[in-house]
This record gives sequence, C-alpha cells and structure tokens, in this order.
Amino acid sequence: MSDVFVRVALDHPIPTLFDYRCLIQPLPQVGQMVQVPFGKRSVAGLVCEVAHASDVPAERLRNVQAVCSDCPPLSAQWLALVSFAADYYQRSLGEVALPSLPQPLRDASRWGRLLALETFYQILPSGRERLLASLPARALALRRLAQALIDAESLSLGAARALHPKAAATLEAWHEAGWVGRASGTLGGGDQGKWSTPASPAPANANANANANTDKGPPAVSSAATLSALNPAPHLEPIAAPVLNAEQQYACDAICNAGGFAAFLLHGVTGSGKTEVYLQSLAALLARARDAQVLLLVPEINLTPQFEALFRARFAHLPDAAIVTLHSGLAEGERARHWLAAHTGQARIVLGTRLAILASLPHLAMIVVDEEHEAAYKQQEGLRYSARDLAVWRAKQLNIPVVLGSATPSLESWWQADQGRYTRLTLSHRAVAAATLPAVRLVDLDHEKRRGRASVEGLSVPLLAALKDRLARQEQSLIFLNRRGYAPVLSCDACGWVAGCPRCSAYVVLHKPERAMRCHHCGWESKIPSACPECGNVDIAPLGRGTQRVEEALAGALPQARILRIDADSTRRKGSAQALFSDVHAGEVDILIGTQMIAKGHDFQRVTLVGVLNADTALFSHDFRASERLFAQLMQVSGRAGRAGLAGEVLIQTRYPRHSLYDALGRHDYPGFARSTLTERRQAHLPPFVYQALLRAEGRTIEMALGFLQQAAAALDTVPGAERVMRYDPVPLTIVKVMHVHRAQLLIECASRVVLQSVLHAWHPQLRALKGALRWTVEVDPLDI
Ligand code: ADP
Ligand code: ZN
Ligand code: ZN
Repeated sequence: MSDVFVRVALDHPIPTLFDYRCLIQPLPQVGQMVQVPFGKRSVAGLVCEVAHASDVPAERLRNVQAVCSDCPPLSAQWLALVSFAADYYQRSLGEVALPSLPQPLRDASRWGRLLALETFYQILPSGRERLLASLPARALALRRLAQALIDAESLSLGAARALHPKAAATLEAWHEAGWVGRASGTLGGGDQGKWSTPASPAPANANANANANTDKGPPAVSSAATLSALNPAPHLEPIAAPVLNAEQQYACDAICNAGGFAAFLLHGVTGSGKTEVYLQSLAALLARARDAQVLLLVPEINLTPQFEALFRARFAHLPDAAIVTLHSGLAEGERARHWLAAHTGQARIVLGTRLAILASLPHLAMIVVDEEHEAAYKQQEGLRYSARDLAVWRAKQLNIPVVLGSATPSLESWWQADQGRYTRLTLSHRAVAAATLPAVRLVDLDHEKRRGRASVEGLSVPLLAALKDRLARQEQSLIFLNRRGYAPVLSCDACGWVAGCPRCSAYVVLHKPERAMRCHHCGWESKIPSACPECGNVDIAPLGRGTQRVEEALAGALPQARILRIDADSTRRKGSAQALFSDVHAGEVDILIGTQMIAKGHDFQRVTLVGVLNADTALFSHDFRASERLFAQLMQVSGRAGRAGLAGEVLIQTRYPRHSLYDALGRHDYPGFARSTLTERRQAHLPPFVYQALLRAEGRTIEMALGFLQQAAAALDTVPGAERVMRYDPVPLTIVKVMHVHRAQLLIECASRVVLQSVLHAWHPQLRALKGALRWTVEVDPLDI
C-alpha cells in the first residue's frame, strides 16, 4: 500500500499547509484534528487534504502523532468559510481556523475525553431540606458547593471542582447519604442520562421530585436534563408570542418566504419589536426542518443572558440543550461543550457574540445579526474580521436568509439596501401601542451661560430640574456620558504639569473611588500624588468630567436620589453588570449614570428621562465615522426612554444646538441623516464608496515604524494593479506610543474591492520580506482610521 500524506493547517503565519506522513489507522479524514511535530514542539493541526503524494522530499517528511477521532470532522462548508476569511483578511488558514476552535480540541492531551461521560449531580428533596443545615457555618467552600447544587438544576463534576477541591469525594458522600442524585451523560453527543439515587435511599419524601425518584423505575429525564447543566439559566414559564403588527408580519413573512439566500436589513426604531420578528421567523424556520439550526449574534456578552432567558421562555418546547450560548465569557469547558453541541447538531439555537460566526453549524438555516451597526462585530486584534460581513458571506454560501437588524444601520448596510442588494424591511413605530418615541430637547449651554445659569459640575439647570421632576414622580432617569473615570486629566495650574503615562503618549485618567490614576491604553496605575511632582504645588486639579465625577455631583445635588453608575469600572467582576442591571429593572435605582454600556438593548420600563452630557466632542472629530457613531449612540440611548407608555424626554446638553445631526435626531430621522451623510461620503471619496485597508507597523522608535511603512509603500508601487489604488502617506497614530511601542499606519484605498484584494495579495509576500518593524498587521475594511 502506498503512503498516505495529510496536508495540515497550523496556527502559524506562513500562508501554507504543512505536509505529514500518516501511518495511523484508521486514516484521518479532511476536517479532523491531528497532532503533529512542528520544530521542537508538538502541535494540533487541522487536516485540509488527504493525498497519496507529497512534494516534500521523503526524508524531510515527519509523521502524524495522533488523530482526534472522537469529534466528528468539520465540514467542507466550514473549511470554505474559514478559508474565505483567511484569504479576505490576509491571514493563513490555520491562523483563522485553529483559534476559532475550542481549546480542548486544540489540545491533544484532552482528546479521547471530548465526548466522554461527565458526571452530574442534582439535589434531592431530602438534601434540599437538610444539606445546608448539616454543614458548619465556617465551612464556606462546602456551603458554596451545597448552595450551587440547590440553585442549579444540575451541577457537573467539573463545575463542582471549581467550587471545592474535594468536590468529587464530598458529592459521593452526599450521594451515599441520599441527598443528591447522580447521572452521567456526554456533552457533545446525545446520550441518555439517567439519574441514580443511592442503593438505600433516604426516607422517601412525600413531595419527591419526579425527576429524582427512582421508586417508579427510570426517571423521566431525557438527555436534556443531564445537559441542562450546560445552561443553568433561569427557568421561566413558557411565554406566548404576541400577535405581530402589520409591519412586523410583513417583515416576518418576507424572511420566512426567502427560500434561499437573501439579505434583509431590518430597520426598526427602538422599541419597534425587532426581537419579535427574529423570534417568530426563527421559530417558523425551526419548525420547518427537524434538524435546522439558527444563529443569532448580539454585539455584547452582557446582552446574552437577556436573550437567552427570552429564547428559553419562548422555545420551552425544545430541550434545554437545544439552546446554547457562545461567547468569551464562558468558562473554557463550558464553551467547548456549547461548541460541540452546535457542531454535532444538538443545539438548534446558538446565541453568541462575534466569535460565534465561526462556529461549526452543520444545519444552519438562518442568521440574525442584532444591532448590526455595532463596532463590536469587528474584532480589533488578531484576525480583524467583521462578524457581520462574514454572516452575509456565510448566508450566501449556504443559500439561507440573513437578517441584519438595527435602529441605526451602518451606512455600509444602508447603502447596500439603497442599491437593492439587501431588502429593506421597516418597522416605523413602537410596538407597544401606548409607547411613543421620546421628545428630544436641546439645552443650549452658551445660552444658559448668557442667562447667568451656569451648570453645576456639568449639569445644567434644565437637566437638574428635569431630574428632580422625575424623582418627584418616582420615574427613572438615565444620564449618558461616554467617558469613564473621574476626570480625564490631572494637571498643575502653577507649572503646567499634566499627569501622563510613563509607557504611553497619553494622559492618565483620575479614578477617585479607586484612589488611583490609570492609563486607559496600557493599564498602568499609580497613586494620586498629593502635590505636583514638578513644582510641589499642592493645588493640582482634575480637568474635565467622567462618570465618577458626575455621579459625585448628582449625589451632592440630589441627596435623596438612589444613584447607580454602570461602566467598565463598576462592572469589572464577572456577572456584576447583570446584577446592576437587575437593580435598575427592579426599580431600586432612581438615576442611572453610565457609558455606552447603558445605551444598548436594555428594555428599561420606567425610564422617562435621558440626559446626554458632553456629546459635542464627537461632532468635530478627525475620524469620519465619529458622527455616524454619535448618531447611533444617541438614538440608542434615547430609545431607552418612554418604552412602556410613560412619555419620554431626552435632554441633550450642547454648544451647537443648530447642528444638523441634532436636528435629524430630534426628528428621529435616521433615513435623513443617512442620506446627507452618504452624500458627504460620496463627495469625499470615503467608505462605503471606496474600500480601504490599513498597514500598521510598530517600532521601538517612531522613525523605525515610519521607515518600515515607507519601504512598504515603495514595494507597493511594484505590485500589478497598484496604479488603481490610492496610497496615503505613512503617519503616526494619534496615540503614538503605547507600552513603549511606537505606532504608525499607511492607508490605501480603491473603488474596487476586487482590485484592492488582488493588490493586497501581491503585496503581502513583499511585506514579509521587509525588516525594521517590531510587528506589522494588515487590516481590511478598518473601522478606526
Ligand atoms: P427593539 O428590539 O426593536 O428595540 P423590542 O423587540 O425590545 O424592540 O420590543 C419592544 C417591546 O415591544 C418589548 O417589550 C416587546 O415585548 C414588545 N412587543 C414587540 N412586538 C409586540 C407586539 N406585536 N405586540 C405587543 N408587544 C410587542
Ligand atoms: Zn506644578
Ligand atoms: Zn499607558
């Protein structure tokens, strides 16, 4: 028999596959993982081809060391997706494919156990009554474990070990005592799990839980019960779907009747019930085919629990395991199990953040991208892909519908709809009959000043009056300020000293509650000096305002109000954002202050006032997308007001009350804003009318970074097609230095995406030959320039 060779993708920048000889039987298939020697290491790779010949000389070929046989191979369609992404974003196939797979699949030492039986424990009624009481008050870890059992429907041994190092022995003892039931099942496959109780069960409880009672033969537990440990989400009563209004029905019908590839731009004002359109069209698709899978992308991890609860309530007829989440906040094992559930087809609904677009979904029938305009869909490091754009590509590849939903679509998508490539579906009013869009009022700060009504710590007189009014009526208010920390600058009046980061060319931000100064670019932190380090002046003062300072000012001005701040600092701990948001929903907060974290998605029922501080800075930014982003943010945050029938009001403090952006916002006129902004973009030859790519270089000095880019620019001139590409001069980044590294960039653009792609492909090998930069990257379709 002739030798068999496999061509393997490795997580390595060299844009090639690597050949190995394979002597292992059964032979690996395309789409399976193998372990191979690479240099002195041994690494995991993905088999992309199986062949009977290799161009590599026999003496240089090395052997495959192991094959991962317990995970079904990845499909040819999935391989086509990652290879498209690799090609388009100028990466090697392995650099895209491997990081997108769950960690245990990339670690040969864990193969063989991927689909292995995992043990689960479940509290029994007797344990529910007596377990906690039997534990000493001081045994905190044990009590945590017991509490977790009581709270969760079932707990895997892995999850239990994370709570208590001796969880295995402890749980067995509790099992013996008749307090907990035990079951085993696979996570990725569809094994039946059976709960067992100990041989001599504890005295039967009159209200014995049917699931846990073995007296009547095998418990009525499907694999779903075992697998519910995948998702210990709150269990809700099944909720009936509301009757769609005419616009929603039209949208839903259009999506369900697509019958193949179609891209829909669902443009619905905030509160118009886009989610309902997703739910009902997904439901229709899932009902149509027994194995169909759907993927819903949300921009932020924080939004997944809310969607998950909603989906579980609405799809209560599906087994628990049929709904999984995929995002970076999951523990590694959990994420692997969810990924496997999607890969094996067991998960029917996958809710995830951008990384989920690269999940293996063999029966994918529809993709939804909620809040499609969000910058979070663009990965900003490593493979800089746009999950939204890949969603459209994937839908086209699979010939299925894709729905992009937003109240403020990206101008790229809006332009696609203008040209008829995407089908626009419009929801023009709020879904709840009594809910209307809020009135937008501008507070002219210059006018206030002229009238002698100065703001107190950035809070104008009309805004404070409106806040007091809401307090008196026991309604909630929301203050939006897109800058965290106490003050962005700390400076000395006497000598002009400004606190800067020693590692970056940036000011450090004053954080008062944490009693620290922090660099928001590299994380450097130090104590707040009591005097100016240059001249000794003790009167150093914070300049400008962040959320912490406004929180302090509000507490001073409205001492009776219950104030809560939500930003990246107040939600650093895992799960804390969720807890804070539920305080707001529970009505335990009068005034919520926060950054863009509070602008998105949350359906606050009792907010009637939204105050916007310091929005003007984005009006005159050098970034041409700043106004698009500002409009979207203001529209989103305004959308939090007046949801449930109470009239809503938005107060925007500004020094430019006549700016056209505020004018369009006041009229809730996204199409008008989009039309005028697209006209400007077309005249200025900016995206979406041109396609861009950025070459970024990092150097030990700025000269080295710029020097690299100059060589790169010269190399570009020799590339075929370069004459059709517009090339800008290399420039330093606005924040030149981060972590002692100097950064510069070179922008190129072209009216044709195809030409730009071919130029990038020809340019890439030349870049790889250049020296002088510490690091360089190519970014296609950059968002921040
Ligand atoms: P969006 O995502 O467009 O901002 P949501 O999907 O959050 O809007 O819907 C806003 C509110 O309207 C929600 O409370 C939702 O339950 C409700 N809703 C949506 N569709 C309907 C409908 N057809 N009838 C009644 N209420 C609806
Ligand atoms: Zn000084
Ligand atoms: Zn820094």
